[in-house]
Amino acid sequence: MKITVVGSGYVGLVSGACFANLGNEVTCVDIDAKKIALLKKGVTPIYEPGLEELVRHNLKEKNLSFTTDLKGAVRRTDVIFIAVGTPPRPNGEADLSFVEDVARTIAKDLRGYKLIVEKSTVPVQTGERLAQTLRHTVKKGADFDVASNPEFLREGSAVRDFMNPDRIILGVESKKAERILRELYAPLKAPIVVTDINSAEIIKHASNSFLATKISFINAIANVCDAAKADVEQVAIGIGLDRRIGRGFLDAGIGFGGFCFPKDLAAFIRISEKLGYDFELLRAVERINENQKKVFLKKVEEALWNVSSKTIGVLGLSFKPNTDDMRYAPSVEIIAALQAQGARVKAFDPHAMPKAKGLLRNVEFCKDSYSVSKGSDCLLILTEWDEFKELDLARVKKALRQPIVVDGRNIYDPKKMRKLGFKYFSMGRP
Ligand code: NAD
Repeated sequence: MKITVVGSGYVGLVSGACFANLGNEVTCVDIDAKKIALLKKGVTPIYEPGLEELVRHNLKEKNLSFTTDLKGAVRRTDVIFIAVGTPPRPNGEADLSFVEDVARTIAKDLRGYKLIVEKSTVPVQTGERLAQTLRHTVKKGADFDVASNPEFLREGSAVRDFMNPDRIILGVESKKAERILRELYAPLKAPIVVTDINSAEIIKHASNSFLATKISFINAIANVCDAAKADVEQVAIGIGLDRRIGRGFLDAGIGFGGFCFPKDLAAFIRISEKLGYDFELLRAVERINENQKKVFLKKVEEALWNVSSKTIGVLGLSFKPNTDDMRYAPSVEIIAALQAQGARVKAFDPHAMPKAKGLLRNVEFCKDSYSVSKGSDCLLILTEWDEFKELDLARVKKALRQPIVVDGRNIYDPKKMRKLGFKYFSMGRP
Protein backbone atom coordinates (compact mmCIF):
# COMPACT_ATOMS: atom_id res chain seq x y z
CA MET A 1 0.00 0.00 0.00
CA LYS A 2 1.02 3.58 -0.48
CA ILE A 3 0.92 5.33 2.84
CA THR A 4 1.59 8.82 4.16
CA VAL A 5 2.36 9.28 7.84
CA VAL A 6 2.03 12.89 8.97
CA GLY A 7 4.23 13.74 11.96
CA SER A 8 7.60 11.98 12.23
CA GLY A 9 7.96 11.82 16.01
CA TYR A 10 7.98 8.74 18.23
CA VAL A 11 4.73 7.39 16.86
CA GLY A 12 4.86 8.62 13.27
CA LEU A 13 8.45 7.65 12.62
CA VAL A 14 8.16 4.23 14.24
CA SER A 15 4.86 3.49 12.48
CA GLY A 16 6.23 4.71 9.15
CA ALA A 17 9.43 2.69 9.39
CA CYS A 18 7.54 -0.44 10.49
CA PHE A 19 4.87 -0.13 7.77
CA ALA A 20 7.71 0.26 5.25
CA ASN A 21 9.43 -2.80 6.63
CA LEU A 22 6.20 -4.75 6.16
CA GLY A 23 6.47 -4.04 2.43
CA ASN A 24 4.47 -0.84 2.03
CA GLU A 25 5.64 2.31 0.30
CA VAL A 26 5.71 4.95 3.02
CA THR A 27 6.21 8.70 2.95
CA CYS A 28 6.83 10.29 6.34
CA VAL A 29 6.01 13.99 6.57
CA ASP A 30 6.97 16.57 9.15
CA ILE A 31 6.91 20.37 9.34
CA ASP A 32 10.28 20.30 11.08
CA ALA A 33 12.69 20.70 8.15
CA LYS A 34 15.75 19.91 10.31
CA LYS A 35 14.23 16.63 11.41
CA ILE A 36 13.40 15.68 7.82
CA ALA A 37 16.92 16.57 6.65
CA LEU A 38 18.40 14.28 9.32
CA LEU A 39 15.98 11.47 8.53
CA LYS A 40 16.78 11.67 4.81
CA LYS A 41 20.36 10.85 5.79
CA GLY A 42 19.19 7.92 7.91
CA VAL A 43 19.81 9.67 11.23
CA THR A 44 16.95 9.36 13.73
CA PRO A 45 16.43 12.38 16.00
CA ILE A 46 15.29 10.17 18.91
CA TYR A 47 16.95 7.28 20.71
CA GLU A 48 14.84 4.18 20.20
CA PRO A 49 16.35 0.67 20.06
CA GLY A 50 16.35 -0.76 16.51
CA LEU A 51 14.79 2.31 14.88
CA GLU A 52 17.79 3.76 13.09
CA GLU A 53 18.65 0.40 11.50
CA LEU A 54 15.05 0.04 10.32
CA VAL A 55 15.02 3.56 8.85
CA ARG A 56 18.35 3.05 7.06
CA HIS A 57 17.37 -0.34 5.67
CA ASN A 58 14.06 0.89 4.27
CA LEU A 59 15.58 4.10 2.90
CA LYS A 60 18.01 1.90 0.97
CA GLU A 61 15.20 -0.37 -0.22
CA LYS A 62 13.33 2.79 -1.31
CA ASN A 63 10.24 1.76 0.73
CA LEU A 64 10.61 4.82 2.92
CA SER A 65 11.03 8.49 2.14
CA PHE A 66 10.87 11.75 4.07
CA THR A 67 9.48 15.12 3.06
CA THR A 68 8.06 18.37 4.37
CA ASP A 69 5.64 18.51 1.43
CA LEU A 70 2.36 17.16 2.80
CA LYS A 71 0.32 18.04 -0.30
CA GLY A 72 2.68 16.15 -2.60
CA ALA A 73 2.70 13.12 -0.31
CA VAL A 74 -1.10 13.03 -0.07
CA ARG A 75 -1.42 13.15 -3.84
CA ARG A 76 0.70 10.02 -4.21
CA THR A 77 -0.96 7.92 -1.48
CA ASP A 78 -4.32 6.41 -0.54
CA VAL A 79 -3.98 5.99 3.20
CA ILE A 80 -2.94 8.90 5.42
CA PHE A 81 -2.08 8.44 9.08
CA ILE A 82 -2.15 11.53 11.28
CA ALA A 83 0.50 11.12 14.00
CA VAL A 84 1.18 14.72 15.00
CA GLY A 85 1.43 15.84 18.60
CA THR A 86 -1.66 16.51 20.72
CA PRO A 87 -0.04 18.45 23.58
CA PRO A 88 -1.93 19.64 26.63
CA ARG A 89 -3.36 23.15 26.88
CA PRO A 90 -2.82 24.90 30.24
CA ASN A 91 -6.21 23.58 31.46
CA GLY A 92 -5.26 19.99 30.57
CA GLU A 93 -7.44 19.55 27.52
CA ALA A 94 -5.77 18.26 24.35
CA ASP A 95 -4.63 20.88 21.86
CA LEU A 96 -5.91 19.54 18.57
CA SER A 97 -4.77 22.45 16.41
CA PHE A 98 -1.98 20.38 14.78
CA VAL A 99 -4.51 17.71 13.86
CA GLU A 100 -6.85 20.34 12.41
CA ASP A 101 -4.02 21.97 10.42
CA VAL A 102 -3.16 18.65 8.85
CA ALA A 103 -6.82 17.88 8.08
CA ARG A 104 -7.27 21.22 6.32
CA THR A 105 -4.16 20.78 4.19
CA ILE A 106 -5.21 17.25 3.23
CA ALA A 107 -8.76 18.35 2.40
CA LYS A 108 -7.74 21.20 0.09
CA ASP A 109 -6.08 18.90 -2.36
CA LEU A 110 -8.10 15.75 -1.95
CA ARG A 111 -8.83 13.82 -5.13
CA GLY A 112 -10.39 10.37 -5.57
CA TYR A 113 -10.70 8.24 -2.42
CA LYS A 114 -8.47 8.62 0.66
CA LEU A 115 -8.60 6.92 4.02
CA ILE A 116 -7.60 9.33 6.79
CA VAL A 117 -6.59 7.59 9.99
CA GLU A 118 -6.11 9.16 13.43
CA LYS A 119 -3.02 7.61 14.98
CA SER A 120 -2.44 10.45 17.45
CA THR A 121 -4.12 10.10 20.82
CA VAL A 122 -7.22 12.28 20.67
CA PRO A 123 -10.29 12.83 22.84
CA VAL A 124 -13.52 11.08 21.96
CA GLN A 125 -15.51 12.75 19.15
CA THR A 126 -12.37 14.07 17.42
CA GLY A 127 -13.10 11.74 14.48
CA GLU A 128 -16.47 13.43 14.04
CA ARG A 129 -14.80 16.85 14.03
CA LEU A 130 -12.20 15.65 11.58
CA ALA A 131 -14.85 14.32 9.20
CA GLN A 132 -16.79 17.60 9.49
CA THR A 133 -13.71 19.68 8.71
CA LEU A 134 -12.88 17.52 5.72
CA ARG A 135 -16.46 17.59 4.43
CA HIS A 136 -16.52 21.39 4.58
CA THR A 137 -13.31 21.75 2.61
CA VAL A 138 -13.09 18.95 0.02
CA LYS A 139 -13.93 19.57 -3.62
CA LYS A 140 -16.76 17.79 -5.43
CA GLY A 141 -15.95 14.27 -6.56
CA ALA A 142 -13.51 13.61 -3.76
CA ASP A 143 -14.34 10.79 -1.37
CA PHE A 144 -12.91 9.88 2.00
CA ASP A 145 -13.32 7.88 5.18
CA VAL A 146 -12.05 8.76 8.62
CA ALA A 147 -10.86 5.99 10.95
CA SER A 148 -9.29 5.77 14.37
CA ASN A 149 -6.33 3.46 14.93
CA PRO A 150 -4.80 4.40 18.28
CA GLU A 151 -1.21 3.42 18.94
CA PHE A 152 -0.09 1.57 22.07
CA LEU A 153 3.68 1.41 21.54
CA ARG A 154 5.91 2.30 24.48
CA GLU A 155 8.97 4.47 24.15
CA GLY A 156 12.06 2.37 24.76
CA SER A 157 10.58 -0.67 23.02
CA ALA A 158 8.60 1.13 20.34
CA VAL A 159 9.66 -0.94 17.31
CA ARG A 160 9.14 -4.24 19.12
CA ASP A 161 5.76 -3.06 20.46
CA PHE A 162 4.58 -1.86 17.06
CA MET A 163 5.50 -5.18 15.44
CA ASN A 164 4.05 -7.30 18.29
CA PRO A 165 0.96 -5.48 19.56
CA ASP A 166 -1.36 -7.09 22.13
CA ARG A 167 -4.25 -5.92 19.97
CA ILE A 168 -5.01 -3.63 17.07
CA ILE A 169 -7.95 -1.28 17.43
CA LEU A 170 -9.76 -0.25 14.27
CA GLY A 171 -12.42 2.40 14.80
CA VAL A 172 -14.24 2.56 11.48
CA GLU A 173 -17.50 3.74 9.97
CA SER A 174 -17.30 1.90 6.65
CA LYS A 175 -16.55 -1.61 5.38
CA LYS A 176 -14.05 -0.16 2.92
CA ALA A 177 -12.01 1.48 5.70
CA GLU A 178 -12.10 -1.74 7.72
CA ARG A 179 -10.95 -3.81 4.73
CA ILE A 180 -8.01 -1.50 3.98
CA LEU A 181 -6.82 -1.42 7.59
CA ARG A 182 -7.26 -5.17 8.08
CA GLU A 183 -5.15 -5.79 4.98
CA LEU A 184 -2.47 -3.36 6.16
CA TYR A 185 -2.20 -5.01 9.58
CA ALA A 186 -2.63 -8.62 8.41
CA PRO A 187 1.14 -9.41 8.66
CA LEU A 188 1.18 -8.54 12.37
CA LYS A 189 -0.96 -11.52 13.44
CA ALA A 190 -2.47 -9.70 16.41
CA PRO A 191 -6.11 -9.77 17.54
CA ILE A 192 -8.05 -7.05 15.76
CA VAL A 193 -10.89 -5.30 17.54
CA VAL A 194 -13.24 -3.40 15.23
CA THR A 195 -15.32 -0.68 16.84
CA ASP A 196 -16.99 2.61 15.99
CA ILE A 197 -14.68 5.64 16.00
CA ASN A 198 -15.86 7.08 19.34
CA SER A 199 -15.23 3.78 21.13
CA ALA A 200 -11.76 3.43 19.57
CA GLU A 201 -10.87 6.90 20.80
CA ILE A 202 -12.07 6.04 24.30
CA ILE A 203 -10.16 2.72 24.27
CA LYS A 204 -6.88 4.63 24.01
CA HIS A 205 -7.66 7.13 26.77
CA ALA A 206 -9.15 4.40 28.97
CA SER A 207 -6.09 2.14 28.55
CA ASN A 208 -3.62 4.84 29.53
CA SER A 209 -5.81 6.02 32.38
CA PHE A 210 -6.14 2.48 33.71
CA LEU A 211 -2.37 1.96 33.64
CA ALA A 212 -1.83 5.33 35.33
CA THR A 213 -4.40 4.28 37.95
CA LYS A 214 -2.40 1.12 38.67
CA ILE A 215 0.73 3.20 39.20
CA SER A 216 -0.97 5.67 41.53
CA PHE A 217 -2.63 2.78 43.36
CA ILE A 218 0.67 1.07 44.11
CA ASN A 219 2.24 4.41 45.07
CA ALA A 220 -0.58 5.00 47.54
CA ILE A 221 0.01 1.49 48.90
CA ALA A 222 3.74 2.31 49.15
CA ASN A 223 2.94 5.31 51.31
CA VAL A 224 0.88 3.13 53.64
CA CYS A 225 3.72 0.57 53.67
CA ASP A 226 6.19 3.32 54.63
CA ALA A 227 4.01 4.34 57.56
CA ALA A 228 3.40 0.73 58.65
CA LYS A 229 6.93 -0.59 57.99
CA ALA A 230 5.62 -3.09 55.42
CA ASP A 231 7.20 -3.89 52.05
CA VAL A 232 5.36 -2.69 48.93
CA GLU A 233 7.35 -5.04 46.72
CA GLN A 234 6.05 -8.06 48.59
CA VAL A 235 2.56 -6.58 48.50
CA ALA A 236 2.86 -6.09 44.71
CA ILE A 237 3.92 -9.72 44.25
CA GLY A 238 1.13 -10.87 46.54
CA ILE A 239 -1.61 -8.99 44.73
CA GLY A 240 -0.05 -9.24 41.26
CA LEU A 241 -0.19 -13.03 41.19
CA ASP A 242 -3.97 -12.72 41.16
CA ARG A 243 -4.66 -12.99 37.43
CA ARG A 244 -7.51 -10.52 37.71
CA ILE A 245 -4.97 -7.92 38.87
CA GLY A 246 -1.65 -8.82 37.19
CA ARG A 247 1.85 -7.79 38.25
CA GLY A 248 2.44 -5.17 35.51
CA PHE A 249 2.48 -1.47 36.43
CA LEU A 250 2.68 -2.23 40.13
CA ASP A 251 6.16 -0.80 40.72
CA ALA A 252 6.15 1.90 43.36
CA GLY A 253 8.31 4.95 42.75
CA ILE A 254 8.32 8.67 42.13
CA GLY A 255 5.29 8.56 39.84
CA PHE A 256 4.71 8.49 36.11
CA GLY A 257 5.88 11.10 33.63
CA GLY A 258 6.47 11.17 29.89
CA PHE A 259 4.51 12.58 27.03
CA CYS A 260 1.57 10.17 27.34
CA PHE A 261 0.23 9.34 30.80
CA PRO A 262 0.08 12.84 32.35
CA LYS A 263 -1.38 14.51 29.28
CA ASP A 264 -3.76 11.69 28.33
CA LEU A 265 -5.07 11.48 31.86
CA ALA A 266 -5.64 15.25 31.97
CA ALA A 267 -7.28 15.20 28.53
CA PHE A 268 -9.59 12.33 29.52
CA ILE A 269 -10.62 14.15 32.70
CA ARG A 270 -11.36 17.33 30.69
CA ILE A 271 -13.31 15.62 27.89
CA SER A 272 -15.36 13.68 30.47
CA GLU A 273 -16.09 16.99 32.22
CA LYS A 274 -17.17 18.56 28.91
CA LEU A 275 -19.47 15.60 28.37
CA GLY A 276 -20.99 16.18 31.82
CA TYR A 277 -19.13 13.55 33.88
CA ASP A 278 -16.82 14.39 36.77
CA PHE A 279 -14.13 11.68 36.63
CA GLU A 280 -13.22 11.94 40.34
CA LEU A 281 -11.26 8.68 40.28
CA LEU A 282 -8.83 9.99 37.66
CA ARG A 283 -8.49 13.32 39.44
CA ALA A 284 -7.30 11.36 42.49
CA VAL A 285 -4.86 9.42 40.29
CA GLU A 286 -3.38 12.73 39.11
CA ARG A 287 -3.17 14.09 42.66
CA ILE A 288 -1.43 10.99 44.02
CA ASN A 289 1.05 11.15 41.14
CA GLU A 290 1.90 14.79 41.80
CA ASN A 291 2.26 14.13 45.51
CA GLN A 292 4.68 11.25 44.93
CA LYS A 293 7.48 13.64 43.99
CA LYS A 294 6.92 15.42 47.31
CA VAL A 295 7.06 12.10 49.16
CA PHE A 296 10.44 11.47 47.53
CA LEU A 297 11.75 14.97 48.31
CA LYS A 298 10.78 14.49 51.95
CA LYS A 299 12.91 11.35 52.02
CA VAL A 300 15.85 13.33 50.64
CA GLU A 301 15.36 15.95 53.36
CA GLU A 302 15.09 13.24 55.98
CA ALA A 303 18.32 11.69 54.71
CA LEU A 304 20.30 14.92 54.46
CA TRP A 305 18.72 16.99 57.26
CA ASN A 306 19.53 20.26 55.47
CA VAL A 307 19.47 20.15 51.69
CA SER A 308 20.92 23.64 51.34
CA SER A 309 24.55 23.73 50.17
CA LYS A 310 24.71 19.93 49.88
CA THR A 311 25.93 18.28 46.68
CA ILE A 312 23.35 15.86 45.35
CA GLY A 313 24.18 13.26 42.71
CA VAL A 314 21.37 12.22 40.39
CA LEU A 315 21.35 8.98 38.40
CA GLY A 316 18.74 8.94 35.64
CA LEU A 317 17.00 11.88 34.00
CA SER A 318 14.71 10.46 31.29
CA PHE A 319 11.14 9.73 32.37
CA LYS A 320 11.82 6.01 32.05
CA PRO A 321 14.70 3.77 30.94
CA ASN A 322 15.67 3.03 27.32
CA THR A 323 14.56 6.41 26.05
CA ASP A 324 16.08 9.88 25.89
CA ASP A 325 12.63 11.46 26.26
CA MET A 326 12.64 14.16 28.93
CA ARG A 327 9.05 15.34 28.44
CA TYR A 328 7.32 15.54 31.85
CA ALA A 329 10.18 13.58 33.41
CA PRO A 330 9.86 13.68 37.23
CA SER A 331 13.62 14.45 37.36
CA VAL A 332 12.99 17.98 36.07
CA GLU A 333 10.71 18.98 38.96
CA ILE A 334 12.72 17.10 41.58
CA ILE A 335 16.00 18.74 40.52
CA ALA A 336 14.38 22.19 40.42
CA ALA A 337 12.96 21.69 43.93
CA LEU A 338 16.38 20.65 45.30
CA GLN A 339 18.09 23.60 43.61
CA ALA A 340 15.45 25.94 45.03
CA GLN A 341 16.50 24.73 48.47
CA GLY A 342 20.12 25.59 47.70
CA ALA A 343 21.49 22.19 46.66
CA ARG A 344 24.18 21.74 44.02
CA VAL A 345 23.21 19.01 41.54
CA LYS A 346 25.42 16.65 39.53
CA ALA A 347 23.78 14.21 37.13
CA PHE A 348 24.27 11.37 34.70
CA ASP A 349 21.92 9.61 32.29
CA PRO A 350 23.07 7.05 29.71
CA HIS A 351 21.11 8.62 26.83
CA ALA A 352 19.06 11.64 27.92
CA MET A 353 21.84 14.13 28.71
CA PRO A 354 21.81 15.93 25.34
CA LYS A 355 18.08 16.62 25.74
CA ALA A 356 18.41 17.30 29.48
CA LYS A 357 21.06 19.94 28.84
CA GLY A 358 18.46 22.03 27.04
CA LEU A 359 16.04 21.76 29.98
CA LEU A 360 18.02 21.79 33.21
CA ARG A 361 19.93 24.80 34.46
CA ASN A 362 23.03 24.82 36.68
CA VAL A 363 23.42 21.06 36.68
CA GLU A 364 26.89 19.55 36.38
CA PHE A 365 26.56 16.75 33.81
CA CYS A 366 29.01 13.92 34.45
CA LYS A 367 30.47 11.22 32.23
CA ASP A 368 29.29 8.28 34.34
CA SER A 369 27.70 7.20 37.63
CA TYR A 370 31.00 7.13 39.51
CA SER A 371 31.84 10.74 38.64
CA VAL A 372 28.35 11.72 39.84
CA SER A 373 29.00 9.94 43.13
CA LYS A 374 32.40 11.57 43.64
CA GLY A 375 32.11 14.06 46.50
CA SER A 376 28.29 13.96 46.59
CA ASP A 377 26.48 14.04 49.92
CA CYS A 378 23.89 11.64 48.61
CA LEU A 379 22.92 9.77 45.48
CA LEU A 380 19.39 9.78 44.05
CA ILE A 381 18.03 7.16 41.64
CA LEU A 382 15.41 8.77 39.40
CA THR A 383 15.34 6.38 36.40
CA GLU A 384 15.74 2.61 36.59
CA TRP A 385 18.31 2.14 33.80
CA ASP A 386 19.75 -1.40 33.87
CA GLU A 387 23.31 -0.09 34.11
CA PHE A 388 22.54 1.50 37.49
CA LYS A 389 21.44 -1.91 38.79
CA GLU A 390 24.86 -3.30 37.91
CA LEU A 391 27.03 -0.59 39.48
CA ASP A 392 30.04 -1.49 41.62
CA LEU A 393 28.36 -0.27 44.79
CA ALA A 394 31.53 -0.50 46.89
CA ARG A 395 33.14 1.92 44.44
CA VAL A 396 30.09 4.20 44.61
CA LYS A 397 30.26 4.20 48.40
CA LYS A 398 33.93 5.08 48.38
CA ALA A 399 33.29 7.98 45.99
CA LEU A 400 30.40 9.48 47.98
CA ARG A 401 31.13 12.01 50.72
CA GLN A 402 28.32 10.45 52.77
CA PRO A 403 27.09 6.92 51.94
CA ILE A 404 23.47 7.95 51.41
CA VAL A 405 21.28 6.60 48.60
CA VAL A 406 17.67 7.68 48.09
CA ASP A 407 16.26 5.28 45.54
CA GLY A 408 13.11 6.58 43.85
CA ARG A 409 12.81 3.44 41.71
CA ASN A 410 13.46 0.65 44.21
CA ILE A 411 16.30 -0.85 42.16
CA TYR A 412 18.47 -2.05 45.05
CA ASP A 413 17.87 -4.57 47.81
CA PRO A 414 17.54 -2.64 51.10
CA LYS A 415 19.22 -5.41 53.14
CA LYS A 416 22.21 -5.61 50.81
CA MET A 417 22.57 -1.84 50.75
CA ARG A 418 22.61 -1.64 54.53
CA LYS A 419 25.09 -4.51 54.71
CA LEU A 420 27.35 -2.55 52.37
CA GLY A 421 27.16 0.32 54.83
CA PHE A 422 24.78 2.63 52.99
CA LYS A 423 22.11 4.72 54.62
CA TYR A 424 19.47 3.58 52.16
CA PHE A 425 15.98 4.99 51.56
CA SER A 426 13.50 3.66 49.02
CA MET A 427 9.80 3.87 48.24
CA GLY A 428 7.51 1.83 50.49
CA ARG A 429 10.14 -0.64 51.67
CA PRO A 430 11.51 -0.88 55.21
P1 NAD B 1 6.25 13.91 18.80
O1 NAD B 1 6.24 15.27 19.38
O2 NAD B 1 7.45 13.03 19.02
O3 NAD B 1 6.00 13.98 17.24
C1 NAD B 1 5.03 14.78 16.64
C2 NAD B 1 5.60 15.30 15.33
O4 NAD B 1 4.57 15.95 14.59
C3 NAD B 1 6.72 16.32 15.49
O5 NAD B 1 7.86 15.87 14.80
C4 NAD B 1 6.15 17.59 14.87
O6 NAD B 1 7.12 18.39 14.23
C5 NAD B 1 5.15 17.02 13.89
N1 NAD B 1 4.12 17.95 13.43
C6 NAD B 1 3.40 18.83 14.16
N2 NAD B 1 2.55 19.50 13.37
C7 NAD B 1 2.71 19.00 12.12
C8 NAD B 1 2.11 19.28 10.88
N3 NAD B 1 1.16 20.22 10.75
N4 NAD B 1 2.52 18.61 9.79
C9 NAD B 1 3.49 17.67 9.91
N5 NAD B 1 4.10 17.36 11.07
C10 NAD B 1 3.71 18.01 12.16
O7 NAD B 1 4.96 13.18 19.37
P2 NAD B 1 4.71 11.62 19.57
O8 NAD B 1 5.28 11.19 20.88
O9 NAD B 1 5.07 10.88 18.34
O10 NAD B 1 3.13 11.62 19.74
C11 NAD B 1 2.26 11.81 18.65
C12 NAD B 1 0.88 11.38 19.06
O11 NAD B 1 0.87 9.99 19.37
C13 NAD B 1 0.36 12.07 20.31
O12 NAD B 1 -1.02 12.24 20.18
C14 NAD B 1 0.67 11.08 21.40
O13 NAD B 1 -0.17 11.21 22.50
C15 NAD B 1 0.42 9.77 20.70
N6 NAD B 1 1.13 8.62 21.27
C16 NAD B 1 2.42 8.77 21.68
C17 NAD B 1 3.10 7.66 22.19
C18 NAD B 1 4.51 7.78 22.69
O14 NAD B 1 4.98 6.83 23.35
N7 NAD B 1 5.22 8.84 22.42
C19 NAD B 1 2.46 6.39 22.25
C20 NAD B 1 1.16 6.29 21.77
C21 NAD B 1 0.51 7.42 21.28
